[in-house]
Amino acid sequence: MSSVVDCHGVSFSYGEQPAVSDVSLTVEQGDFLGLIGPNGSGKTTLLHLMLGLLSPDEGSVELFGHPVNDFEQGNRIGYVSQQATSRGGTMPVTVRECVRMGRFAHAGHARLSAEDEAIAEEALETVGITDLADQRVNELSGGQRQRAYIARALASEADLLALDEPTVGVDAESRDAFYQLLESLNDDGIAIILIEHDIGVVTDRADRIACINTELYHHGDTESFVESDALSEAYGATGTVVHHHH
Ligand code: ADP
Repeated sequence: MSSVVDCHGVSFSYGEQPAVSDVSLTVEQGDFLGLIGPNGSGKTTLLHLMLGLLSPDEGSVELFGHPVNDFEQGNRIGYVSQQATSRGGTMPVTVRECVRMGRFAHAGHARLSAEDEAIAEEALETVGITDLADQRVNELSGGQRQRAYIARALASEADLLALDEPTVGVDAESRDAFYQLLESLNDDGIAIILIEHDIGVVTDRADRIACINTELYHHGDTESFVESDALSEAYGATGTVVHHHH
């Protein structure tokens, strides 16, 4: 079986300064990968490279065994960007409409069958926002909006969920519930890549960790990460441990 994501020697710079340098890592089916590193260490850039949103200057990326450049099964990937938490930029559609769009992505056309609609309703139920179905996405709180985007990914039958700091601005209780949801989706076999600045959350929830600061300092299981010096090495390289982000 092919990996979900396979990066070989990937490098990228926006200008002179490299943002990601020679990173090789794989995400396997069923992995819950925490992607950590100091502020500005290239986490979002690496995630964009992994999802084909940026093309590497060097190296290559495969998604589900296909070169990312000609990967045509976008419905298999659910991406919740940092911007998804903010109200700006969200569409003035209802939660139900948003989630049904996941079915359009899956079917490749915009005519939904009764079965498509049932799958969308089930996705709303799974993430616990059935009662919000008729509200507009841009009226939701940050945490509710994250769930709506995850429901859309479930409706499109995504095998990979990629989340970039999904709980910024979400209160502690909702945050905990959100991470429980991610864990249960992962238990159902969905691979997860999570960028999260709270290292405690990552070591509690993720079973694998990639720790970067432009270069990769660790890629492996959480236990070996906790026992290693990767954290202090990666964070020491900039002299700061960051407690908040953007
Ligand atoms: P992180 O997600 O770890 O905070 P980023 O991947 O966002 O890191 O950024 C890595 C580096 O690349 C930082 O130095 C950042 O300033 C720079 N960078 C990010 N996006 C851009 C961009 N669009 N143009 C120029 N530089 C960028």
